[in-house]
Formats: sequence, C-alpha cells, structure tokens
Amino acid sequence: MRNSLTALSLAAALASIAHAQTLDAAGLQAIDAAVSAVAPKMVQWRRDIHAHPELSGQEVRTAQLVAEHLRRLGLEVQTGVGGTGVVGTLRGGLPGKVVALRADMDALPMPEKTGLPFASKAKGSYLGKEVPVAHSCGHDAHVAMLMGAAEALAGLRAQLPGTVKFIFQPAEEGAPVEADEHGKVPSFGAKAMVEAGVLKDVQAIYGLHITANLPSGMAGYRSGPLMAGSDSITIHVEGKGGHGSSPWSAIDPVVAASQVVLGLQTVVSRQLNISKEPAVITIGSIQGGTRYNIIPDNVELLGTLRTFDEGMRQDALQRIVTTAESIAASSGAKAKVRFGPVAYPVTTNPAALTEASLPALKLAMGGKAMVIPKVSGSEDFSEFQKVVPGFFYFLGAPPKGVDFAKAPPNHSPQFDIDEDQLPTGARSLAALAVDFLRRP
Ligand SMILES: [Zn+2]
Ligand SMILES: [Zn+2]
Repeated sequence: MRNSLTALSLAAALASIAHAQTLDAAGLQAIDAAVSAVAPKMVQWRRDIHAHPELSGQEVRTAQLVAEHLRRLGLEVQTGVGGTGVVGTLRGGLPGKVVALRADMDALPMPEKTGLPFASKAKGSYLGKEVPVAHSCGHDAHVAMLMGAAEALAGLRAQLPGTVKFIFQPAEEGAPVEADEHGKVPSFGAKAMVEAGVLKDVQAIYGLHITANLPSGMAGYRSGPLMAGSDSITIHVEGKGGHGSSPWSAIDPVVAASQVVLGLQTVVSRQLNISKEPAVITIGSIQGGTRYNIIPDNVELLGTLRTFDEGMRQDALQRIVTTAESIAASSGAKAKVRFGPVAYPVTTNPAALTEASLPALKLAMGGKAMVIPKVSGSEDFSEFQKVVPGFFYFLGAPPKGVDFAKAPPNHSPQFDIDEDQLPTGARSLAALAVDFLRRP
C-alpha cells in the first residue's frame, strides 16, 4: 500500500479528504502517502521506546518523547493528564466534529527474552520491589503508530474537516500503586484521563491493540462485546487457629477456603445464564499457614472474574459474595470479599459505530479485516467507551517468518512484532479518524 502519487493525483486526493462524504480511495491515498513518509521514524521511535520501557504510571521518558513530537508538529499539547498522560489536539483547517485516537504507553514488570538488539535491559520499581521491565504487550508499537498518525494528519491539516485528539494513556496494565486495606487505589489509566476531562467535546474514539496471533496486516474486530470486563477479587477467610491434631478445637480456614474455591466454580457453571454470554472465575492464589501441623487463623484467596455483559458482571459479583460468605459460615468461619483495584468494564464496540467504521477500516487494511471471537483478556479502553462511542480492534503483526498461530502471545517474554505493520496501524487509525470527521 505504498502508492506513488503524481502531483495531480495528490491534489485530488487532498481535496477528497475535505469533501468526500466518507473516506474514499483518493482520500486514503493522501493518508497513505503521509504515513509512508513517516514510516522509518515510526521504527526508530518504537525501538527507542522498546529499549526504554516504563512501568504503569511511571511513563515519564515516553511521555516527554511524545509531548516533544506533538509540539514540533504544532499541536496543542497537554501533559500530566491523569498522571503521566499526554494529549495532543490537532485543529483541522475546516470546521467539523471532534474525534479521538488512543495509544497506551506502559510496559510490564517482567523480563524480555526476545534476543532483539534493542531488547530491554531496564529495571523498575513495582510495588516496592526491583523488577525487570519490558514492552511485552506491544504498547511501544502503539505509541509509535499514534505518533506516526499524528504526523501524517498534521501534514494534511489544511484539508482536515474537524479536530483530532491524540490520547497517549498511562497505566493500562494496572494500578501503579498498592491498594489500601479496603482494596482501593486512586483512579489510574483511562479512568483517570476521563476524570481529567480528556473526552470533553469528543464524539467518538478509536484504538487498536497489536497482536502476533492474527495473520500479518489483518484487522480483527467484532461488534458488541470484544474483550472481557475484569474484576480482581480478594477473599479473606477468617477462622480460628489451633493444633493440626485437634481441629475440633479450631475453625479451619484452610478447609473453608478450599470449599470456597470449589463453590465459586458453581457461580458460572450453575448460576449464570451462559447462553447469553460466557464468564470465567479463576482463583490464582491461596495464601495461609506456616507449618504442616498448625491450623492458621486465616487464609487469603486472590482471583479474577471475567464477563462480557454488564448485567451478568454485577450479578456475578453479588453471587461471589453470597457464595463465599455462606460457605465459610457453614463451618463457623467468616469470609470477607473485596473487589478491585482492577475493575475494567467490558470492552464493547457499539453496533452503529462498528458498522459505520468498517468501510474505512477495510479500505485502510486493503480488505484484510475479519470478525474474531471474543477475547477474555481485558482493556481499559472500555473506560472511554463508557463515555463516548468507541471502536477497538486488533492488528495482526506476527514477526516475519513466524506462524501467527504459534507466535509468542502478548505478555510472553518472547513476544515480538513485525515493524513493517507499524504503517498499517498508523494508516488505519488516521483513516478511521478522517472518515469519522467526514461522515454526516
Ligand atoms: Zn497487556
Ligand atoms: Zn496491552
């Protein structure tokens, strides 16, 4: 999709950005030419950010890089939005609507084992511990693509009918600080940016996630629920400690907690109407006790709930509390259930916006777009979608020569992408924005 344009067809293409009702092939040509011009820089930015990953809420260097770039392009730039977030506003030469494009900036507390020449050697501080830090979710690529889209659209500013806000979001991967005793943390990520007013006047928002597990250059999307809502669960089971040889004189929280783990599996399998949407409950941690013959006072369970329907989510949260409390009570123990700090709503693409956006997406992807199954992973892009219609999609970019079905997934220490797809991502974001501004 690197079209060489004659001066005449470029003029026609630029005019078409301003005047067509939706994005057409000529409009896409103008975007494509602008994105192709910035492609080498996107690779440089991605490698620089990749080699200098920063944990959630600590994206200081990345934010500075982004802000300097947006200022150079002549955009209005706000920094420190919802933490380390950066927002660039591009006012087009023609009046019109306001659309937002979003990229998340944070890396993960994990080692990188890609063997890339620009692999991370960074360390960071995560919940008081020194940890390796790596861009194993591909947010480095997201930042580079959105910087590229900003440069491309800034070059087409005179013909742009409306305003584009470029939202560079911190802390998508989770809370930057430890929860207090009530399981609460200050707002972070998308929610903090929404609370800072980032969506004021915005009429729609678009975002993408890069993945190695779709065919190269393929957009994966679906109308309705796309990614699960995610709620973290903490259950404190309080018993009464004693000697392992005489459990009748104690209240055993280990057995009670074990029953709670099994009982919680009946919430989805026996209590939720899964013919509507699927759901998942996983307990990932059981902590309690010190020795083989001591019954401890208490046990702590940590888990996650994944849902695809807000009503089912609220219902399941209530049923988790009832199930845990009742099972613990049956042996005289007490269960105290807390939700959070992770509480991401379902990432849902509204049917109308999805349908309206698909022609431009398909045009920008050269026809390579497919409906994908629901993803039980989560995204706080859903916080933006709670406020304005938003469309989220995946971009396939497995490393060259690697089968997408076998490529290391996001959050793997071996996760890697094909940098040749950075322009594809930038082009699709820019195209969706222009198309939205053009649509009546
Ligand atoms: Zn991630
Ligand atoms: Zn991610």
